[in-house]
Amino acid sequence: MPNIGRKKQRIAGRIPAKRSLGQNFLVDDSIVDRIVNSFCPTASDIVVEIGPGHGALTEKLVGRVEKLYTLEFDSSLAPLLRRRFSDRDDLVVIEDDALTFDFGLLATPGRRLRVIANLPYNISTAILQRLFDSSEILEDCVLMFQREVAERITAAPGIKDRGYLTIMTELHFDVEHLFDVPPSAFRPAPKIWSSVVRIVPKPAELKNKEAFRKLLSAGFAQKRKTIANNLKALFADVTGLLIQARIDPTRRAETLTLEEWLRLNDVVHK
Ligand code: SAM
Repeated sequence: MPNIGRKKQRIAGRIPAKRSLGQNFLVDDSIVDRIVNSFCPTASDIVVEIGPGHGALTEKLVGRVEKLYTLEFDSSLAPLLRRRFSDRDDLVVIEDDALTFDFGLLATPGRRLRVIANLPYNISTAILQRLFDSSEILEDCVLMFQREVAERITAAPGIKDRGYLTIMTELHFDVEHLFDVPPSAFRPAPKIWSSVVRIVPKPAELKNKEAFRKLLSAGFAQKRKTIANNLKALFADVTGLLIQARIDPTRRAETLTLEEWLRLNDVVHK
């Protein structure tokens, strides 16, 4: 074969990473092992991997779980994965968008799904918010986020990163920060560090979730304002309501615990 043909073949085999799809592929095998060991796959698991890419995590999961569904949006990567694992009937490559895919289709009665992902950065919080709505069918998830997002979702009361996303995450999940990952673990290397987080669904308690979302959005509208000032737009007697909920009206939204938000929600929607 002439040289030029071989070169073309090599380039085609390598498929350049697509920034628009948040493609930063894991190339550090020790980090891949650490993520998979934290996930702790078992033979009875039904697992969904979001964004398998070239299969760094996939290849360490397949054969160790009962069923592995991989959900890849990139139409040039999905066929490669399908070909690579064509001899496996315990792996299904689904070519679809994690932002719209119905995870419920993969759950069977009495069997919850486990999710693992090195998430595409550009849509990682949108995917997390989709998981809120699927929490009843989830067993647990081990997810890699950009470190700044992991800090937001694990921010304790009083930390300035604590916001709407933190409270909504706490409402649905117990969250555990596992470890940080340097840019050098990926190709192409991102500019920022990443963090691996475990989230485990909590039993659903809240019925008026939409009203709670509105309360949080208003409460966090302007972070430098007090909670009373932010909520003035929603309620006439905001000071009275906050006192009834045993919350000092001069506090800022980021200092409230989830329990305090839930108490306030009960008072305002009584
Ligand atoms: N898991 C691989 C790894 O660790 O090397 C790839 C991770 S890469 C950060 C994110 C992957 O998610 C890419 O394969 C990308 O094509 C895929 N992806 C991007 N947007 C997606 C979407 N909306 N739905 C499903 N997969 C998506």
